[in-house]
Amino acid sequence: MRDMLKKLPKVELHCHLDGSVRPETMYELLLEEKDLENISLEEFEKMVKVEDGCNSLVEYLEKFSYPLKIMQSKENIERITYELLEDLSKQNVKYAEIRFAPFLFMKKGLSFDEAVESVLKGMERAKKDFNILSNAILACMRYESVDKSIEVVKKGEKFLGKGVVAVDLAGGEEGFPPEKHKEAFDLAYEKGYNITVHAGETGRDENIIKSVELLHAQRIGHGIAAIKNPNIMKLLKEKDIFLEMCPISNLQTKAVNSIDEYPIREFLNNDILVTVNTDNTTVSNTSLDKEYSLLIEELGFSIEDIMKIMENSVKATFLPEEEKNHLKRIIEDSLKNI
Ligand SMILES: [Zn+2]
Repeated sequence: MRDMLKKLPKVELHCHLDGSVRPETMYELLLEEKDLENISLEEFEKMVKVEDGCNSLVEYLEKFSYPLKIMQSKENIERITYELLEDLSKQNVKYAEIRFAPFLFMKKGLSFDEAVESVLKGMERAKKDFNILSNAILACMRYESVDKSIEVVKKGEKFLGKGVVAVDLAGGEEGFPPEKHKEAFDLAYEKGYNITVHAGETGRDENIIKSVELLHAQRIGHGIAAIKNPNIMKLLKEKDIFLEMCPISNLQTKAVNSIDEYPIREFLNNDILVTVNTDNTTVSNTSLDKEYSLLIEELGFSIEDIMKIMENSVKATFLPEEEKNHLKRIIEDSLKNI
């Protein structure tokens, strides 16, 4: 089964670039910048990955301070993007949508355009070298003002369809309801961006409704809290909203107490369009193989269930129809070789 999972062609839709930096690269670059005490790579890895003892989303988000220190130059950002896609291609990921908040890469003088262009360059290079397709999602941060989100939407527009496909709203939900960013997401909708929003990750089910109805979300990041409210499940189903679920991350942030409480089976049984993703390959110390293995080993998922999720993932991509069909063919061809 493990061997088969490895060979399965895959699609990754919810992956944060800054949470998915190779630890060795971070270590090397931090040492170069003399921004790290004298510690071993092994010790460093523990500092940037979540251990079993993680207690909350807040604690989880603290792990992002190290990668963000080094993601402040064009070279580093391009290299990190390229390496992530190399790692994904080794797991037979055929297409990935990688998200990042441009403003977090602009602390040491990079411009918005430079930050975005560096990611897109890494993607181009990875496409040539590893034959992996990818697009970027620009994240707005909930704790920032709506003006900052509007700036992301406006400045990102010139990249739309040229490597950027969507905007996202990310960051802890407590105290930062979706409606705060409505003006930015109305604008994104008008300009033709696709829209995904982190919502209902740690209990706030009303954020799912607001994200769909006020922010035009076509996909919801996590969405676990939908299980609490049949009306939300109905809404997701009626509007064909995809859920980007990230099981291992959700366990680590205590979004659910245990895998037995994870609502993915109920969602599937209710015909909700579930996809499975990693969230952060480094911080969560995960991969799509690990996520699928967990579902198979702990929740009794069959290969057919996994295939259904994969089918949903292809449908959920923010690719134009023609490119979506192209990806479908790539996946079908790859499946023939298993
Ligand atoms: Zn996320």
